[in-house]
Amino acid sequence: RLAAGLPERWVRTTCPYCGTGCEMEVGVKGGRITEARPVFASPVSRGHLCVKGRYGWGFSDAPDRITEPLIRRNGVWEPATWDEALAAAASALQQARRAGGPSAVGVLASSRSTNEENYLTQKFARLALGTNNVDCCARVCHAPSAAGLGQTFGTGAATNSYADIERAGLLMVVGANPTENHPIVGARIRQRARAGVPLIVIDPRRTELADLATIHLAPRPGTNLPLLQAMASLILGEGLTDPAFLAARTEGLEAYAASLREWTPERVGALCGIEPEAIRRAARLYATTGPAMIFHGLGVTEQRQGTDGVAALAHLALLTGNVGIPGAGVNPLRGQNNVQGSAQMGCEPSRLTGYQKLAQSREIHAQVWGAELPEEPGLNALEMIDAAGEGRLKALLVIGYDPLLSHPGARETAENLNGLEALIVVDLFLTETAKAFGTVFLPAASPFEKEGTYMNGERRVQRVRQVVPPKGGSRTDMAILAALAERLGAGQPFRHPDAAAVWDEARQVWPAIAGISHGRLDQEGGLQWPCPAEDHPGTPVLHAGGFPGGRAAFRPLGWTPSLEVTNGEFPFLLNTGRSLFHFNAATMTGRTRNRELRADDELELHPDDAAELGLSAGDPVHVQSRHGAFTLRTRPTDRVRRGEPFATFHAVAAYVNLATGPGRDTVTGTPEYKVTAVNLRATGDA
Ligand code: SF4
Repeated sequence: RLAAGLPERWVRTTCPYCGTGCEMEVGVKGGRITEARPVFASPVSRGHLCVKGRYGWGFSDAPDRITEPLIRRNGVWEPATWDEALAAAASALQQARRAGGPSAVGVLASSRSTNEENYLTQKFARLALGTNNVDCCARVCHAPSAAGLGQTFGTGAATNSYADIERAGLLMVVGANPTENHPIVGARIRQRARAGVPLIVIDPRRTELADLATIHLAPRPGTNLPLLQAMASLILGEGLTDPAFLAARTEGLEAYAASLREWTPERVGALCGIEPEAIRRAARLYATTGPAMIFHGLGVTEQRQGTDGVAALAHLALLTGNVGIPGAGVNPLRGQNNVQGSAQMGCEPSRLTGYQKLAQSREIHAQVWGAELPEEPGLNALEMIDAAGEGRLKALLVIGYDPLLSHPGARETAENLNGLEALIVVDLFLTETAKAFGTVFLPAASPFEKEGTYMNGERRVQRVRQVVPPKGGSRTDMAILAALAERLGAGQPFRHPDAAAVWDEARQVWPAIAGISHGRLDQEGGLQWPCPAEDHPGTPVLHAGGFPGGRAAFRPLGWTPSLEVTNGEFPFLLNTGRSLFHFNAATMTGRTRNRELRADDELELHPDDAAELGLSAGDPVHVQSRHGAFTLRTRPTDRVRRGEPFATFHAVAAYVNLATGPGRDTVTGTPEYKVTAVNLRATGDA
């Protein structure tokens, strides 16, 4: 800091990493970002930033950032002008459409991009390309949250606010490790637990919050649903429900209750590897200590029954009347800064802006856009990659997304991507996908180089402000999409003067954000939707006055076990996740000083397992599944149970997704990243 000198100016914006949505001030000197500091007046972060927000801004000026367009010719990336690159991209998209119709093209949107950019991305897919083949990375993380909460409550977003952490009488954290993945939320939960608020943690690993928990239940990977069903069964059986709430505000209880009878604590305890008495204590504590607030993460969603797992949590909240009141509800901890926003803006193959069903909101979109939209639902992100392998999808536009690194089964993903005739990448760096299969590269502006908004995990829309201009020749997604649309003969609907105008158009098609303008956000700070009018204060607690469908809906939830089963050949169940210092594919944090804090991924392994395999701390361990293999350094720790290793997946060198399998959530198709049967062996390398 001394070497850089004090910033000449500070710009208030929102952290580009996780869905907590901390506000930050970014310091600039000599036209370059030199530091970041927290904002004390932020209602979300209240003067704090974690190690990612505080120190993770350097990627913007990383030496390998690509700031001029590239075209791959004869297998080699060559510099190109914007005119040449846009012409090549547009021509490839047109050619694919001519050869296979609109369904032969697809778009993967970025949950790092702003709401405005995501709104334009799905509009581009639908109007300029004529396809509903558009999806975002919510597919590989929290699509089951939207589906499970949507089916039950009628709205697929967090019911409450982070401020309710301080209002809750009990906190229950399920399949989430906010201390590392949403550190500012994690710190607030930790403070409440230390102050004596009861905390239930459900997680196979003994996380830092589990150490503070009143009760920690550690189910075997893949057994969330039976555990939550047993808790519900016990709450019903012991009469710990809220009968008035159930009678007035729910439907379908009878069939749901009947489906629970088989889930006794004894049966479930044996299945999950948990003492039946611990399940009883947890169920009683949750039901009798209100208001009770649930947070859940990818440990719930990235399962073969992700959607049903989320619905099971929603059912627990309904049974006990913990919906529609402060300090309660079911709250997904959204991963990426704007994953809530990208899905809400309509980057979804069967939903439009506002997560409104395609069939129900096509008309209003067509009115505002002045053009018809395709009728048939499109392919989701994983289906698009499958279709590429089958020759049905010929061209793909990928914005701020690295499917080769982040999708499960990397070998199969590569084979499928190889089937594309054109892959146009919009990004800051040559991602693994771009390096291997890209045909045109369009350099994008970083999160510090554009205007717009993000939507955090509590439905709060917050401003993103330009700190510095786009580096070199890079452009905002908004400018890139507008230019591409012009070349495809669909320019007019993309001629917005600025990001505020794009947002204003989104407000016309989604009434829940009609009252939120950029001007209002600048004056008042972030606002939570629904906010239907300019004089509406926003909605910190959903469903206080009722559910969108009138009543919340219980439904029987059967159990579909994971396809990943252990045997003599594959005796371990691998779990995967993130570390405090890095974010997802580490495209950003891997190019910052956070690399000094944690350079490589590691495999957490119980010390007894490590000893049996002859592994010590730092030794390389070969991890082999039925689908592929990778090698990581060993980190012996009793935070994982015997037989249940845990791998972080950030570094390209590790390529953990070579080993993850084809299992997908039966409703949304979200990959089952959390359960893979593997074999481990010491490699013998130094
Ligand atoms: Fe950024 Fe999330 Fe850390 Fe806040 S908690 S500083 S939003 S990464």
